[in-house]
Order: sequence, then C-alpha cells, then structure tokens
Amino acid sequence: MLVEQVHPKPTISIVCPCYNEQEVLSVFISRITDVLDSTKYDYEILLINDGSRDNTLTTMKQLQQEYSPIRTVNLSRNFGKEAAMTAGLDLALGDVIIPIDADLQDPPELIHDFLREWENGYDVVVAKRTDRSSDSWAKKLTAELFYKFHNAVAQVEIPENVGDFRLINRRVVDAIQLLPENQRFMKGIFSWVGFKTAVVEYKREARKAGETSFNGWKLWNFALDGITSFSTAPLRIWLYVGGFISALSFIYGSATIIKTLIYGIDSPGYASLITVILFLGGVQLIGIGVMGEYIGRLYMESKRRPTYIIEEDSYRVTQTDTSSSDESAHS
Ligand code: UDP
Ligand code: MG
Repeated sequence: MLVEQVHPKPTISIVCPCYNEQEVLSVFISRITDVLDSTKYDYEILLINDGSRDNTLTTMKQLQQEYSPIRTVNLSRNFGKEAAMTAGLDLALGDVIIPIDADLQDPPELIHDFLREWENGYDVVVAKRTDRSSDSWAKKLTAELFYKFHNAVAQVEIPENVGDFRLINRRVVDAIQLLPENQRFMKGIFSWVGFKTAVVEYKREARKAGETSFNGWKLWNFALDGITSFSTAPLRIWLYVGGFISALSFIYGSATIIKTLIYGIDSPGYASLITVILFLGGVQLIGIGVMGEYIGRLYMESKRRPTYIIEEDSYRVTQTDTSSSDESAHS
C-alpha cells in the first residue's frame, strides 16, 4: 500500500536530475544547503535518480539521512534529463522551483540573485552564461549553430547561452504542466510558456567530477528534438525546394524541346542524365527523411506513454498490509 506522507510546504524546491553523479553529489549537497540555509525560506531538495549505473542512488539515500530537506526519487530506468526534470517539476511542492545540474556547473550561489529578482516580482529568472570557456570549441560552435538555426525557424526563440538553471514560480510550473506532449524539450517549453522574465549573468564552471553524458550523437539528437518539437519549417521547406527544382526543370525541358525542334535530335547526354537522376533521388530521399522524422514523432506522441515511471519516492513509502499476517506486526 502506498502511503503519502504529509510534509510541510516549502517555499523553494530544488530539482536536480542525477545520472551517474556519485562523486559529486555530496559536495553539491553541502554547497547548495549552505546557500539555502542562508536564505529566509524553507526548502526541499528533490534528487531524481535517472537510472544511474553507479552508486548515485545509495549516495542519495545516505545524504537524505543527513539532510532532512532531501527527497529522493528513483526513476525505474534512464529516461533522460528532460524526463527526469519533468518528474521533479511534477513532484515539487514549493512556491518557486529551481532546476539545477548536480555537477556544480550551475553555481548554487546564484540562487540569491534568483530570489532577489523573484522578490522584485518576476515569474521567471534565467541564468545567462557570460563565459563558456569551460566548454570545448566544438560544443560552443555546435551550440551556436543550433541556436541560430532554431531561432531562425521556430516560432518561439530560445535565448542563447541560457540553460535549464533558472527560477520559475508556481504559475509557470502550472503552465508547463498544461503542455501535454511527452517528448519534452524543456528549453523550448520554458520559452514557450513565456511570463515576466529577469536575467542574471554568471560564469559557467567546468564539471567538478564525473563526466558529461551529452556528447556527439546525443547532442545531435537533442538538437533535432528541439527543432522538430517547436518548428515545422523543415517540413515546409520541401515545398520551396520542390518548386525551385520544378521551375528549373521546366526551363531546362523547354530549352531542350526547342533545341530539338530547331536542330534535330542531338546525341543523348549520359553525363547530364545521370547527374540529374542522382541529384533528384538524393533530394527526394532527404525530403522523405525529414517527413519520417516528424511521422516518427507523431507515432511516439500518439501512444500517449508517460514521460517517466517512478520506482520509489521517499515521500511515498510502501507499507506492507499487516491485516493478513501477524508475523509482520512488529515492522
Ligand atoms: N542527466 C540526467 N539524465 C541523463 C543525462 C544527464 O538526469 O540521461 C543529468 C546529469 O546528472 C546532470 C544534468 O543532467 O545533473 C546535466 O548533465 P551533464 O552535466 O552530463 O550535461 P552538460 O552539462 O555537459 O550539458
Ligand atoms: Mg554538466
């Protein structure tokens, strides 16, 4: 039987998705609790274990014994950062919610600035990196290209150099929960809901321990998720590509017919024929590929599967039913 424990409602909920973060977790908790203890607000820290393969869960539970504001949530497998963060937003009880990475790349000290802007009446306070020197040049370049392309094609812009580290109030969380999609590109969702936003700047540090789980292929897929979740421009562009190629073909075809009528049949051009066939084949396959990408998304969304599954939540304890056996009476 699942029993929901009654917990006092905190003002601040920290939401921290954790995937293989055993090395950094205790440093993270001691640094963030220092910051939170120095504010005048009550708080809770939600640690979401996103199917880690190391001892993150054990570490989380140990920390929970030491620090009572910690709530540990264990997802049944690795669902990805976006899903883990969604779980945290759904479970958080606070008036304001602050998603933060466990690796201390987001400095907890910035929370003071977040709270100040929130007290000034802002619904959202985002953290903007002024310095990405801790990222590799490849990551910086691809990130920049992604933002440029995304913002050129999507209806809502995502501000450059702004990550998930931010403060959002209850109103914003309620709005986010109205979005029904289960493939959640949080950066886009945060921007999409809008609200009065303040910006504070910070310098992004390097990861304190462990390693990033976003590399090469995963980042590319993440970028595709972002673009296809918030724009249909990649689908629409085929109308124009097709139109352009048809116009060219029409001109070329007309010229060929006229030439044939005037000068008679020329020797057939193998080179030009094969080039045109291969080119058109390639263009059509790309078009089909883009369509496939969207159809795949439609298919996944149409299943209406939940975004995440919770295996264990320290606020919802499982109690065995004692009515049928006396042996468990002492437990
Ligand atoms: N994370 C997660 N699930 C994943 C991958 C990452 O919950 O499948 C968490 C990770 O533990 C960290 C945050 O998401 O707290 C950011 O991950 P990471 O530092 O690897 O990304 P980067 O900072 O390099 O973008
Ligand atoms: Mg990181």
